[in-house]
Amino acid sequence: MERKIPEEILEMDRRDPLGHFRDKFNRPATFNGEPCIYLCGNSLGLQPSRAVDFVELEMKKWAEMGVEGHVKGKYPWMPYHEFLTDKMAEIVGGKPGEVVVMNSLTVNLHLLMVSFYRPTRKKYKILIEFHPFPSDRYAVESQAKFHGYDPQDAIIELQPDSGSAYVSMESIEQKFEQHGDEIALVLIGGVNYYSGQYYDIPRISKLAHKYGAVAGFDLAHAAGNVPLQLNEWGVDFAAWCSYKYLNSGPGALSGVFVHERHGKDFDMPRFAGWWGHDKQTRFKMGSEFVPMEGAEGWQLSNPPILPMACMQASLQLFHEAGMNSLRKKSEQLVSLCENLINSIPGERIELITPENPGERGCQLSLRVIISDRKLFETISSKGVIADWREPDVIRIAPVPLYNTYSEIYIFSEILKESIHEQS
Ligand SMILES: *Cc1c(COP(=O)(O)O)cnc(C)c1O
Repeated sequence: MERKIPEEILEMDRRDPLGHFRDKFNRPATFNGEPCIYLCGNSLGLQPSRAVDFVELEMKKWAEMGVEGHVKGKYPWMPYHEFLTDKMAEIVGGKPGEVVVMNSLTVNLHLLMVSFYRPTRKKYKILIEFHPFPSDRYAVESQAKFHGYDPQDAIIELQPDSGSAYVSMESIEQKFEQHGDEIALVLIGGVNYYSGQYYDIPRISKLAHKYGAVAGFDLAHAAGNVPLQLNEWGVDFAAWCSYKYLNSGPGALSGVFVHERHGKDFDMPRFAGWWGHDKQTRFKMGSEFVPMEGAEGWQLSNPPILPMACMQASLQLFHEAGMNSLRKKSEQLVSLCENLINSIPGERIELITPENPGERGCQLSLRVIISDRKLFETISSKGVIADWREPDVIRIAPVPLYNTYSEIYIFSEILKESIHEQS
């Protein structure tokens, strides 16, 4: 259905300095027979058109050079991961030696906890966010069990302030006052996948350190969404995936940050593999493991070229756009969306994402008051790709790299009509 878009919204798109990035992505044209409004970049980011070229280059090289491709061509495969580092480090505010791309996210959380979760008899608890992503919960619980603790006792989950989905900094401080002596590790999702709350990473890191705990973050929903300064904030370690805001393709690789103060700590326990070995002597194939300095010392295997090729395309776009400009547009898109949603009459939906722009990224979570999937299914039938999280939440992500103000307007109209039809 053709919809009339108000002039002021069209003008916002015309004035958008990042508007030209939209055409650098492939996107579904229709969904359920209607023009598609893609608001699911927090789940799977769209495909940068250039990704195909980067992948083709390596496929062609493999065909034409075989094993020689490891050392030849524009991007030799042996150090291929190094071609990603600077741009990935820029996105999370790390120094290049602090960042590496490897494995997938949950694998990396485990590898990092091997090094950074070192419980003692008195200090063994792990503080996690409210409503963590299930994989994170399974990971921390299994780590606690691995060290011989009962997860019921060893895992402390933050709780929201009463009547909201939001965890205030005061309640985090209280948790530390109560349990600080026992907390060994903090592992918090920088932006919570469910509510969209953006935690105060520098304050939480400082607090953790004050109580002698390690500060670790899962940045799956933060990397490429909000500007981060992991080095400056003193975060000990972090990991994130790259298929959400970082548009690197389904199941794509994970980024890892290890603060420089740990980069030369070779006494730390770690699980080792040949790619973590000092690259100067790696191919001497010696029997003693000598780790690389920095985050690269946590690598296990040689880099998987094709997913890394996809990632190159996306990282280029982030480099061109810049996280600060993206954040600026993101705040405007999200406020527009919030205002339009709040102006819908009736009480069928409630936003559970914090109202303060400093405490959210580009995701809004809508709680459906009469909690069945019907409203979600109706907007889907009208072309909106969003997602549903049990028991009652619709998540949408207006992404500054490729979503437009007009799309947000159309989405809000669809939502309004759908609510109206069902009341
Ligand atoms: C998306 C997401 C994951 C997914 O983990 P994979 O190991 O990449 O499958 C884990 N944790 C969080 C917080 C996520 O948002």
